[in-house]
Amino acid sequence: MKIELLPVLNDNYIFILIDELKSEAAVIDPAEAKPVIQFLETNNLKLTHIFNTHHHADHIGGNKKLCEFYKNVKVYAGEKDSGRIGKQDFFLKHGDKINFADEIANIYYVPGHTLGHICYHFLLKNGESHLFIGDTIFSGGCGKIFEGTFEQMFSSLSFIRDSVPDNTFVWCSHEYTLENYLILECLEPQNLNIKAKIQNIISLREKNLPTIPCLMSEEKILNSLLRWDDPNLRKTLSTKSSLETFIAVRKFRDSPPKVKYPF
Ligand SMILES: [Zn+2]
Repeated sequence: MKIELLPVLNDNYIFILIDELKSEAAVIDPAEAKPVIQFLETNNLKLTHIFNTHHHADHIGGNKKLCEFYKNVKVYAGEKDSGRIGKQDFFLKHGDKINFADEIANIYYVPGHTLGHICYHFLLKNGESHLFIGDTIFSGGCGKIFEGTFEQMFSSLSFIRDSVPDNTFVWCSHEYTLENYLILECLEPQNLNIKAKIQNIISLREKNLPTIPCLMSEEKILNSLLRWDDPNLRKTLSTKSSLETFIAVRKFRDSPPKVKYPF
């Protein structure tokens, strides 16, 4: 299974999964149809599956047109998004498994950003681990809590952080990485790992290259929204429990200081 990334709108990514043997493709969170059709037609691929993580318009905007353009496309999304995503064929819940390109993905229910949010975790036969996480984790961030509670988001993030392998590629739906780490640097100005990461992000973004996918092992070390048990972070925030630490970082992130962009 090959994975391609299409940058669309301001900062969204659409991911295309390719079954090279059958010349078929699946799309994850098609914000728009046009760039997907363009890509598939150029590469002689037929769309067979749409995998949605949640109901927001910038994740499902292309569903309708894609289903019209390609016949017999099956639409997959969370069971709790029933009625919020047009043309949904499959209603997935935590623990379900789906197949594409002779590979299997585990479905995880991760409420917080929305109440129906799910993610798709492919553990490939070649040992690679790929997590399509929608708006639940970003590089240097996590999704805004729109519909769920802090507790729900914390438990979703804890589940992901502690259950997927360290070598997991995390495919986040937005290019927020630079902004996220510049803000985290304000929270933790003494954190040299974050400073080094910012230099690395700048060198990619100057060339207009994506910072996605990110690596779970790296996010565990760097991303303050996943480091609720780090004693240094707890000291900075004067918090005691993991939940309290997560909430404090999330609140800091909700009203961030103004940051200066390096370019
Ligand atoms: Zn969203």
